[in-house]
Amino acid sequence: MDVYKTLREEAFEANLEIPRRNLAIYTWGNVSAFDPGKGVFAIKPSGVAYNDLTPDSMVIVDLEARVVDGTLNPSSDTKTHCVLYREFPGILGIIHTHSPYAVAWAQARKSVPVYGTTHADHGAEEIPCTEVMDPEAVKNDYELETGNLIVKTFRQRDINPAHISFVLVAGHGPFAWGKSAAQSVYHGAVLEEICKMALLTLNLDPLAKPLPEHITRKHWERKHGPASYYGQK
Ligand SMILES: [Zn+2]
Repeated sequence: MDVYKTLREEAFEANLEIPRRNLAIYTWGNVSAFDPGKGVFAIKPSGVAYNDLTPDSMVIVDLEARVVDGTLNPSSDTKTHCVLYREFPGILGIIHTHSPYAVAWAQARKSVPVYGTTHADHGAEEIPCTEVMDPEAVKNDYELETGNLIVKTFRQRDINPAHISFVLVAGHGPFAWGKSAAQSVYHGAVLEEICKMALLTLNLDPLAKPLPEHITRKHWERKHGPASYYGQK
């Protein structure tokens, strides 16, 4: 019996959402699903096209990036996933893609201001962009250091990863996470839309102002605050 069957299926389904949501072409994205009880996650195998994926092809990895079960090599971004699961307790899914609007902001090395309520509904603060990684970190252990850079960015700016589920790695692209692999994909898709809307806003008005704080707070809190009332009870 495969004790990782459910975890593999969760990761498999979430990876199939990447092409469905137009978040990546070819193999330019990966999702993982974490089981904190077992201390392992299931992740897409490296370089395998979405059409060729099966639940069994998902690779089971521990938080030290050691393959626990599976015959294929895990995603080359596996160590970044490890760092985020270790340092951001409570997240159970991670997505990384090269979705173009999010990448554009990452390449411009710009954090995304809260320009409207679409953004505020999913986070009351700007979406942070990291610094560019220094040569030593790249040489040392690139994927692990990518994770460290994300964690450093959140700590330095005192951002709670439970409140902002997105980051842009400068010159590279987006990572997003959630309370499940499926929710991480949802956040990856939301991030892409927010980045697109923000860019269109700046095209119309390069001096566009962020949404006033009282509206930002209202939208965040009606969905996520203690007295939230969005959706069905
Ligand atoms: Zn990448």
